[in-house]
Amino acid sequence: MQTFIPTRAAALSRLTAFVPKAGRAYAHGRNTDFGRGGHDAVSTLSPYTRRRLLTEREIVEAAVAAHGREEAEKYVSEVFWRTYFKGWLERRPGVWDHYTTTRDAMLPAWEGKPFLRRAEEGRTDIALFNDWVEELVETNYLHNHARMWFASIWIFTLRLPWQLGADFFARHLLDGDPASNTLSWRWVAGLHTKGKHYLAQRSNIDRFTRGRPAVDPGQLDETAEPLDETFDPGPALPVRDHRAPEPGRRSVLLLTMEDCHPESLDLPETAATAILSVDDRSPRPTARAVLDFDAAALDDTARRLGVAAERVADGEALAAFATRHDATQIVTPFVPRGPTHDRLTAARPSLDAAGIALAEVRRDWDAQVWPKATAGFFKIKKAIPRILDTMDV
Ligand SMILES: Cc1cc2nc3c(=O)[nH]c(=O)nc-3n(C[C@H](O)[C@H](O)[C@H](O)COP(=O)(O)OP(=O)(O)OC[C@H]3O[C@@H](n4cnc5c(N)ncnc54)[C@H](O)[C@@H]3O)c2cc1C
Repeated sequence: MQTFIPTRAAALSRLTAFVPKAGRAYAHGRNTDFGRGGHDAVSTLSPYTRRRLLTEREIVEAAVAAHGREEAEKYVSEVFWRTYFKGWLERRPGVWDHYTTTRDAMLPAWEGKPFLRRAEEGRTDIALFNDWVEELVETNYLHNHARMWFASIWIFTLRLPWQLGADFFARHLLDGDPASNTLSWRWVAGLHTKGKHYLAQRSNIDRFTRGRPAVDPGQLDETAEPLDETFDPGPALPVRDHRAPEPGRRSVLLLTMEDCHPESLDLPETAATAILSVDDRSPRPTARAVLDFDAAALDDTARRLGVAAERVADGEALAAFATRHDATQIVTPFVPRGPTHDRLTAARPSLDAAGIALAEVRRDWDAQVWPKATAGFFKIKKAIPRILDTMDV
């Protein structure tokens, strides 16, 4: 059974073990879901990339060094999907707000419905769907293809709202990510690329699953129309401006689960370190294993930095922490859209009142890719060789 140890050391050893398979073997085997304990054809690095315990740059560098750009192309482009989704949501923040608002509005009416409970407890008529639910709840991971079929069955066969499916994933996946998760659910529904949805087909599932229950004929709706919505994500906005650290200002460091590798960023000297602990994925409870992974990943980061970090929960606590250390500046790796960003936005008035500036440091990787995350993935895919040249990979 796959276990995920929440340290950078564990992430690096998993990367080392996977790299020999990141070339042709990945391109050939990545689409098959072998079930729990059998996900060896994919890297299962996502809980680490989600928190940047491993950076995209490190993974891509390792794959290219081992196989060359051409053979590693499939793996590299999958890693770029993550950066694309992060950039896309950054540039259309209304999509995140729309998701959380509609999810929260529908939850009271849906929460007690037996039909939703049956799906979330894996008690539907579709044995394979139930098997995925069990795997997700027990291991907090699902194969990419399984996620696609799962989301498609949730939306088009079970006819449940996509927002509640995204919420179910966000609360159980160790890699649950505001961008990759929300936008993948929208993509399956036919809302990301308008009118183009992903319909799970029994024949495709049969071909790409091994050792899992079969789907019976007629169990899936294989002809459903894509979803539609009145909400308009609008055009891509420029990436939001952020305040860079002011040299010479007494500062404290803020660690969040959005970036657990501050060592690879050019950060100024800081007098003390705080950890922002948030459990804001959903109004409903998040799986204990996911919260424990967050906490341990942040502890591991502080340990590597050799600092004793203090946990803070909100803006007032953060302002008090900085003030206690005579700091007027909080420095943190860039915080993209999602619950952590929402929490820091709510903290602004407390920080302003205490005269404390919040400065962020953005990664070159994001700065290279996000300007291109305006429409579909193709634009980024085409630009990958140029981006790798610029990044010296
Ligand atoms: C409905 C749905 C929900 C999803 N929710 C999430 C999520 O919350 N968090 C998340 O990280 N991924 C999500 N994905 C994308 C993808 O399924 C996972 O990133 C992948 O399965 C992670 O397993 P891996 O590390 O073995 O991937 P590998 O195939 O080994 O890929 C390597 C890395 O590339 C990135 N990656 C690969 N495929 C994708 C993709 N399609 N989109 C974005 N990044 C990708 C991940 O960081 C991954 O660790 C979702 C996909 C679907 C269809």
